[in-house]
Amino acid sequence: PGATPAVAYPRKILEYMEGFLISKVVFSSCELGVFDLLLGAERPLSAEEISQAVGTSVDGTERLLAACAGLQLLNIHQDGGRLLYSNTESGQTFTMTRSSPLSLSLTVPEPSTLCWHYLTDAVREGRNQYEKAFGVDAKDLFQALYRSDEEMVKFMQLMNSIWNICGKEVVTAFDLSPFKTICDLGGSCSGALAKQCTSAYPECTVTIFDLPKVVRTSRENFFSEANRRIGFYEVGDFFKDPLPGADLYILARILHDWTDQRCIELLQRVHQACRPGGSVLLVEALLYEDGSGPLTAQLYSLNMLVQTEGRERSAAQYAALLTAAGFTSIQHRFTGKIYDAVLARK
Ligand code: SAM
Repeated sequence: PGATPAVAYPRKILEYMEGFLISKVVFSSCELGVFDLLLGAERPLSAEEISQAVGTSVDGTERLLAACAGLQLLNIHQDGGRLLYSNTESGQTFTMTRSSPLSLSLTVPEPSTLCWHYLTDAVREGRNQYEKAFGVDAKDLFQALYRSDEEMVKFMQLMNSIWNICGKEVVTAFDLSPFKTICDLGGSCSGALAKQCTSAYPECTVTIFDLPKVVRTSRENFFSEANRRIGFYEVGDFFKDPLPGADLYILARILHDWTDQRCIELLQRVHQACRPGGSVLLVEALLYEDGSGPLTAQLYSLNMLVQTEGRERSAAQYAALLTAAGFTSIQHRFTGKIYDAVLARK
C-alpha cells in the first residue's frame, strides 16, 4: 500500500519529442561548415580551432560538437586533457560534406522548414501554408522555392543529391532499354535522374523539360559538354505548352505536388504526346495500400500537405490516375529505398 505503481519508461516517445533537436543539430553543423572544415583539415581539431575557423563561440561550438559526437556524426579523440573531433567515415561519405559526390547536402531548403512550422494549421485547414510562411499566393507553388537564384540552386542540389543514392534502383526497377527517346518532365531540378538513365541505358537520349528559368539554372550549374545524350526543352509549362514527342515520359516527384484533378490533366497531356506503344514512368515514394507505412512516405505526405497541393499516394491510387488518363498495363515495383516506380503503357 502506498507504493507508486511501476511506470514503463516511454523511451520511443521521448526520442520522438527530441527529434527536431537532432535535425537542428545536423542542419546547423552543415550550415556552419563543420564537416567540410574537418575534411579539409586532415587531422582531428579541437573545439577552439573549429570555433575560430568557422567564426563561432567556443562554448556553443563545444556543445554542438558534443551533440554531433553523441549522434555518431563525429569521432572524439582524447589528446592529453583536450578533446579533438574528426568526421566519421559514413558522415563524410554520404551526408555531411558538401564536396562529397554522394552528399545529401542536408541543408533542407528554408521553404520546407518555414512551412513545417505551421503543421498544426495545415492539418486543421487541410491545405498548404505558403501564404502564412511567405506571404505569396499559395497557388504559385514554386514561386517561394525559386524566389532567388541561391534558393533555387539549393533546392536543385537537394533534389539532385537523392538520385546519387536512390536513382539507379529507380531507373532499373523496370527494363527501360526498349525506350530510345526519353522525356524527363519537370526533370531539370538537377537532371540527376536523366544522368542515371543515360548511364544505365547507353542507347537512350533524354530530353529534360522544365520551367525556362529552372532549365537555364540547371544548365549553368549541373551540366557539362560531357552530357551529350541529355538535351533540354526550354519551352516551359507542362500544363500549357506542347510536350515533346518521346517513347517514355518520366515524371519523378511531380504528381505528388498536385491534386488528383491536376495529375489527371497532366497525364492526359502526356498520353496525347506519347507515341503509340510508349510508356510513362512515375517515380514516387509509394504508400502501402493498408496505410501502415513506409514511415518516410507518410512523413513526405505531410511535407506535401504543408507546402504543395499534393500528397503521397499508394500504387492503386496512381493506377487510378493513370487509368483515368487512358494508360493501361500498369505495374509497380518497390525498390526498398525511398523512391519507387510505376510503369504504364499507352
Ligand atoms: N523530377 C525532379 C526530381 O525528381 O529531382 C524534380 C522534382 S521537383 C519536386 C518538381 C519539378 O517540377 C521542378 O523541377 C519544377 O521546376 C518542375 N515544375 C513545376 N511546375 C512546372 C510546370 N508547370 N511546368 C514544368 N515544370 C514544372
